[in-house]
Amino acid sequence: MENEKLVNENFIHRFINEDIAEGGDYYGKKVHTRFPPEPNGYLHIGHAKAVCVDFGTAEKFSGLCNLRMDDTNPTKEDVEYVDAIKEDIKWLGFDWEDRFYYASDYFGQMYDYAVELIKKGLAYVCELTGEQMREYRGDLSTPAKSPYRDRPVEESLDLFRRMREGEFEDGKMTLRAKIDLASGNFCMRDPVIYRINHMSHHRTGDKWCIYPMYDFAHPIEDAIEGITHSLCTLEFEAHRPLYDWVVDNISAPSKPRQIEFARLGITNTVMSKRKLRRLVEDGFVSGWDDPRMPTLCGMRRRGYTPESIRSFTDQIGVSKVNSTVEYGFLEHCLRDDLNERAARAMAVLDPVKLVITNYPEGKTEEFEVENHPNHPEMGTRTVTFSRELFIESTDFMEEPFKKYQRLYVGNEVRIKSAYIVKCTGCKKDDSGKVVEVYAEYDPETRGGNTPDGRKVRGTIHWVNALDCLDAEVRMYDDLFTVEDPDGAEGEFTDYINPESLVVLKGCKVEKALGSAKPEDRFQFMRQGYFCADCKDSGEGALVFNRAVGLKDSFKKK
Ligand code: ATP
Ligand code: MG
Repeated sequence: MENEKLVNENFIHRFINEDIAEGGDYYGKKVHTRFPPEPNGYLHIGHAKAVCVDFGTAEKFSGLCNLRMDDTNPTKEDVEYVDAIKEDIKWLGFDWEDRFYYASDYFGQMYDYAVELIKKGLAYVCELTGEQMREYRGDLSTPAKSPYRDRPVEESLDLFRRMREGEFEDGKMTLRAKIDLASGNFCMRDPVIYRINHMSHHRTGDKWCIYPMYDFAHPIEDAIEGITHSLCTLEFEAHRPLYDWVVDNISAPSKPRQIEFARLGITNTVMSKRKLRRLVEDGFVSGWDDPRMPTLCGMRRRGYTPESIRSFTDQIGVSKVNSTVEYGFLEHCLRDDLNERAARAMAVLDPVKLVITNYPEGKTEEFEVENHPNHPEMGTRTVTFSRELFIESTDFMEEPFKKYQRLYVGNEVRIKSAYIVKCTGCKKDDSGKVVEVYAEYDPETRGGNTPDGRKVRGTIHWVNALDCLDAEVRMYDDLFTVEDPDGAEGEFTDYINPESLVVLKGCKVEKALGSAKPEDRFQFMRQGYFCADCKDSGEGALVFNRAVGLKDSFKKK
C-alpha cells in the first residue's frame, strides 16, 4: 500500500492515519491535498500557513498536493495574481508539479452534477429574491420555507436550462439543494448552489451566466481531482455537512474528507485581502510588495527567507482554535535563521568622521575579516583602513553618561578588527553639532588586540572614508500602532504607524557591499539584519531594507 507512511505530529495527521487504517475510501490511495487560493490578491502570511499545511501534509505522507485557482466567482479574478501566487508558493519551496488547475475548468461538470441532483429530486429552482430568502430563512424554532420546493422535477430542469441560456436576469432565480428546511445548521436549509450572474469570467468569457456557489463547487473540484483530504480553515466547519452531502449525493468519482484547522492572525497587522488592497489602492503603502505588508512578496522584499517562514509555521503548529501570534515571534524566527546564514558587514547609518591624527596621510592598510564568525566556509573579505573613517555619531559623546564605553576624550575603544584608538577631541560647527572626532591609534594593537593585555571595553563598527559607499537605508517598524487594528474603534487605517517607515539617506557602507545583489541579506554589525532592496537597489544606488533588529523583543509566554 502506498500510503502506509505514518506521521503523528498534529490532529490532521492523526485523522489521516485513522483513515488509512480504516481503509475504505482511502485504501491504496496516496494522500492527496490541494491549496485553493482565490486569485483576487497576493498571498499573505496566513496563506503561507495554509500552504505549509496543505503541501506539508502531503509531503509528510509522501503524497501529492495540487494547486488550484478557486475562480468560481467571476467578479474579482486577475491574471496578475495567478502568476504572483505561483511565484510565492515556489519561493516557499513547494511544488505542484504538473497539477495546476482552475476551478472554472469544471463548470461543465458542475452543471451536469446540478442536473443530476434535480433529476434525483435533490435540487429545485427557486424564485424567491435574496430579500425574500432572508425573510423566509426562519430561526432555530421556525423552519425556513420556499413555495417552490415541491415544484416538479421537469419544471426545475427546464428552468435551470433556461437560466443557463440567459433567459433570466440576475437574482431572478436560484438553484437550491433540497436538504432540510428545519436543520439547526442554517447551511443545510436548502442552500443556494447556483446563481445567475451575467458577467464575463476571466477564463470562460461569456460562456456562462450562471455560476456555482462555493459550497457546491468546492467539494466537486476536490472529488474530480481525487483529493483525499481537503484541508481548510475553521470557518468552514459548519459547512462540512453540506460538503459531505454534495459528495454523497452526486456520482462523484471520489469522496474527499474535509478537515478544518485554525486561521492564523498576527498582531499589529491586517490580513484580509480586502483591507490589504485598500492599503495599496489608497496609497498607505507603496504596493502589495511594500516591505511592511504581511504579504509574502512584501516579506521577501523586507528580507524574510522561506526557511524562516516555514520554521514559523512549523513552530506555531496547527490547532482547532483560532489564535493571534505576536509579530515578534515571526521576527524571532527570521532572526534565528539570518543569524546563521547572513554575512556580516559594516554600515554606518548616522555617520560622523573620525580622524586618526597620528596615522600617516595617504596610507591604507588591508584587513582580512571573516564573513561569519561561526561559518568559515562563508569566506572572508577585505576591509581597508586609513586615516579617516566614518563612525556612528552616537559612538562619540562629549559628556559621556555613566557606563558609556565608547568614544569620549581620554577613553580607548576598539575599532572592530583594526586597531585600538584613544579619543583626543572633536570639532563642532556653529550650531554646536559635532562634525569631526579625533583620536590616536596604537600601532601595537593591529587586529584589535592589546599585547599588554589591557582591557578595552568598547568596540565600534566603522567604514573607511576613502572607499566606503553611500546608501539609503529604510528602517521599518510595525505597520499599525495597535495589536488588533481590525477590532479597534473606527477605521483600521486610523491606526497606521506614521513611523512604520523611516528613510535614512547618506548612510555609509563598506565597499564590499557595492556588489550586493537584490535580496542579498546581511547582518550590519550592531544594527540588525538588512536586505538589498529588490526594486530600488543596484549599482550606484544602494538601498537596504531593515528586515529585523538584533534585539529579540519576543517574550516567551
Ligand atoms: P481573505 O479573507 O483574506 O480574502 P481567503 O480565505 O478568502 O482570505 P483564499 O484565497 O480563499 O483567501 O485562501 C486560500 C486558502 O488559504 C484557503 O484555504 C484559506 O482557508 C487559507 N487561508 C486564508 N487566510 C488564512 C489565514 N489567515 N490562516 C490560515 N489559512 C488561511
Ligand atoms: Mg476564500
